[in-house]
Amino acid sequence: MQYSCNFQKVYQTDVLVVGGGTAGFGAAVAAARNGAKTMLIEQTSVLGGMATSGLVGPFMTCFDNDVTEQVVKGIFDELCLRTEAKGGAIHPSKVRGMCSHNSYYLGSHECVTPYQSEMLAVTMDEMVTEAGVQVLFETRLADVLTDGSKITHAVVLMKEGLCAIEAKCFIDCTGDADVAVRAGVPTWKGDKQTGDMQPTTLFFEVGNIDKEKYIADLEANKHLLDNHMGNCYSWTVREAKANGDWSLDKNELGMYEQNLPSRWKVNTTRMAFVDATDTEQVTKAMMEGRRQVQEVLAFMRKYIPGCENVQLIQVADVLGVRETRHIVGKYELTVDDVLKHAIFDDAICTFAYALDKHDSEGGGVTWSLVDQYYTIPYRSLLPVNCDNLLVAGRSICGSSEAAASYRVMPACVAMGQAAGTAAAMAVAENIKPEEVCIEKLQNTLIEQGTVIKRN
Ligand SMILES: Cc1cc2nc3c(=O)[nH]c(=O)nc-3n(C[C@H](O)[C@H](O)[C@H](O)COP(=O)(O)OP(=O)(O)OC[C@H]3O[C@@H](n4cnc5c(N)ncnc54)[C@H](O)[C@@H]3O)c2cc1C
Repeated sequence: MQYSCNFQKVYQTDVLVVGGGTAGFGAAVAAARNGAKTMLIEQTSVLGGMATSGLVGPFMTCFDNDVTEQVVKGIFDELCLRTEAKGGAIHPSKVRGMCSHNSYYLGSHECVTPYQSEMLAVTMDEMVTEAGVQVLFETRLADVLTDGSKITHAVVLMKEGLCAIEAKCFIDCTGDADVAVRAGVPTWKGDKQTGDMQPTTLFFEVGNIDKEKYIADLEANKHLLDNHMGNCYSWTVREAKANGDWSLDKNELGMYEQNLPSRWKVNTTRMAFVDATDTEQVTKAMMEGRRQVQEVLAFMRKYIPGCENVQLIQVADVLGVRETRHIVGKYELTVDDVLKHAIFDDAICTFAYALDKHDSEGGGVTWSLVDQYYTIPYRSLLPVNCDNLLVAGRSICGSSEAAASYRVMPACVAMGQAAGTAAAMAVAENIKPEEVCIEKLQNTLIEQGTVIKRN
């Protein structure tokens, strides 16, 4: 079947950022601050992606593995500081390991950033507005128009109908590489050999917990935590399973206190083998997630000291998706790069979060700490087959295992900042993103707060 129509509106811009999650936010602010006329489209009505509509949190660590130096700064740090100033976050430098803010995990969980999603969204609104970005909510990328190896327009669905946005440079921050796929960039899903992707989770928030009682019980049971790597209440989950009160794949209760003592984010539901680029599968997973939320609440009330009167505050509007597509780009970041301190000549940011791979069948988690820190190369943001596209966030060119580290939000903001800065430079100089002078890009990023470790 074919269909043709006239676009209801046609916009023009220098840089179009598609997707307003943490990566898209960083990209749009950076592109606009560096002089490009910038638009950002987002299919929901809030910036932040997983951090807000997904209720995911806290931001995982932005420090090195020795917890001696903050290695993600720039726009990410500004976001944390400005949200903290509003009473909506706690700066990561103030949060230690094995506490209520990190569900009693230690490895890679020191210096996380607890935040209230609604407050984060307000700070993001302020920062994009101050930078001069034109944001369009409720606007979803449907397709792209191309001319040879360049994208000329994004075709978007708005309330008005189908519209088009013409841009000189595009940044795909959809998490699913939606722009790249439509532009003909090759991609793969999950693990290259098996196609397995990390499981999905529906986050929710609870309150009315007797915190003193809850903490006292956990402190008393600290010796049961596996190697100080978390596994909170795995012993109680085992008991509940035996009683027929726990049918979930996950074997622990992940409770993350926010900056407000009255609110906790819960990371415990699990829907495995969901391809989140398939609408029917997402719909089914959302319904199953909401069912699991009710089961977890009942478990908490029955088994967890201090949670007898726990109340549901809200369930995320969107499914928590850890992994879908990875683009084929100019360099594939490997698990060895992540674990073994890779310092690239074209590094655009530094990161140190552990490999945190949730098994595809939903139950366990594989953990490996990185060697101090590693860098992410600019080439991993550059897709093959498309001359005016950058990709930032969890769908860059990297193996499924490597993504188990760089998929988390501080790295996504940092990748976004790099992509936005590079796009602005490419537009200003009328060159392809791949022709941007790396030294100039790195110097600009460093001047604007990014930490880039070099040999
Ligand atoms: C269950 C779960 C737990 C996690 N825990 C943590 C944690 O504790 N700490 C941490 O730091 N990280 C955590 N992560 C990882 C992290 O949240 C994500 O990997 C990260 O947010 C990805 O950022 P992104 O900007 O690439 O994508 P997203 O945050 O997914 O943002 C993509 C945005 O693009 C929009 N979009 C998508 N397609 C289109 C389209 N076609 N048109 C228009 N807009 C579109 C979406 O609406 C969304 O706003 C977790 C992830 C999950 C799923």
